Amino acid sequence: MGSIGLLLVCKVLPYLEQELDYHYTLFRMSDYPQMAQLLSHHAASIRAVVCNTRAGADAKLIEALPNLEIVLNYGVGVDGVDLNKCREKGIRVTNTPDVLTDSVADLAIGLILTLLRRICECDRYVRSGQWKKGEYKLTSKFSGKTVGIVGLGRIGLAIAKRAEGFNCPICYYSRTEKPESKYKYYPSVVELASNCDILVVACSLTEETYHIINRKVIDALGPSGFLINIGRGKHVDEAELVSALVEGRLGGAGLDVFENEPHVPQELFGLENVVLLPHVGPGTVETRIAMADLVLGNLEAHFHGKPLLTPICLTSDVV
Ligand code: NAP
Repeated sequence: MGSIGLLLVCKVLPYLEQELDYHYTLFRMSDYPQMAQLLSHHAASIRAVVCNTRAGADAKLIEALPNLEIVLNYGVGVDGVDLNKCREKGIRVTNTPDVLTDSVADLAIGLILTLLRRICECDRYVRSGQWKKGEYKLTSKFSGKTVGIVGLGRIGLAIAKRAEGFNCPICYYSRTEKPESKYKYYPSVVELASNCDILVVACSLTEETYHIINRKVIDALGPSGFLINIGRGKHVDEAELVSALVEGRLGGAGLDVFENEPHVPQELFGLENVVLLPHVGPGTVETRIAMADLVLGNLEAHFHGKPLLTPICLTSDVV
């Protein structure tokens, strides 16, 4: 397959990059400061694109590659790919579901515990020698708190199962009610936020879920409520979140994702009731290798005429 041109748009695990380089004619976007330079020389030979949410495949890129057949998203959330353009041009799209679910759900629980028990603050308390001057203040208990999940998909469900282990009542809001689920469904995010202590955002980013966490939702969660975001930064109206935290209208926030990554609002840096992570949900060695293998497996399947391992269905009802 060495003669098949493949464009790598995003940063990936070195293992994946090496495999792509070995099996395909690899073009790295990072080698071309001007995209026009890359396209003028190689556009016609590129048949596959590997991308992610930060460095995606937008309509402009897709239009510029006349022989593009497949877009492989190195991640589960395909908000960085113009799915309508792919559907229009008959380009196949794959992602890396399931293999990252555990790592992201583990991290969500880690964020909750870190936030409620002030684990980062406690660590700094010990390191700075303050413990010798007195005990650390009391914090909030996680076990038994009601957890509300926005988006009861693969990751949302995995978080729910973990939270059950902490004896937390679980409720959720999703695009559709899940009759088979034993968890309580609320028909709106505001109602969900009004009825839980910890609101976890785990839905996919679409036009409908952009700023799904707005002032109304934050106010419904209130000064004793906590927001956890392991979905996408754009799910949350960040300006509203910052002002709610600064003004004490929200109890706290644990955030793995931000609206304008890697930029994080400076106002959050001085607050002890926030935990800030650099978008590391699936960032474990085991998970990244499994994601890489899915990308490689999908590529091989596509170019050998076999069924894709994890295709995105491009019918109009899911885009
Ligand atoms: P999934 O199984 O497809 O679940 C997506 C969930 O979003 C579904 O429950 C779906 O509801 C819900 N949803 C979609 N549109 C909605 C709407 N308009 N209103 C309410 N809910 C809506 O995907 P997943 O594997 O769990 O991943 C979920 C998301 O997590 C990804 O899309 C990605 O953005 C994010 N993620 C983040 C990280 C990270 O690094 N922090 C890592 C991986 C994934 P229905 O079930 O009712 O259709």
